[in-house]
Amino acid sequence: MPPESLQLLIRQKLANGTLPMNSSVPRIWGGPGNGETCEACDGVITKDEWVSEGVSLAGGPKPVHLHVKCFHLWQEERQAMSRAQSSDRALAPAVSRAPTPRSPGR
Ligand SMILES: [Zn+2]
Repeated sequence: MPPESLQLLIRQKLANGTLPMNSSVPRIWGGPGNGETCEACDGVITKDEWVSEGVSLAGGPKPVHLHVKCFHLWQEERQAMSRAQSSDRALAPAVSRAPTPRSPGR
């Protein structure tokens, strides 16, 4: 699967709640795969690959299993989404305005 469509898939799953957002996953660890299904790309995580496992509190007792590459994309996407959400809440965009230089002698 090309990285762009995987990213899109992860974005959709974050939007519809299939994949949890940042705050609901307090613990992540990894290890060799054992035939788990990746929650991001729906592929099988084989013993030759590493699995990243996230324990979700808000999403229930079911842990989230992801390929390492899918985990990184998931992390990027939820960070991007939480950034977008926090800038929505603040009405003014968080753009640092450089102080306007005043003309001397006026
Ligand atoms: Zn995957």
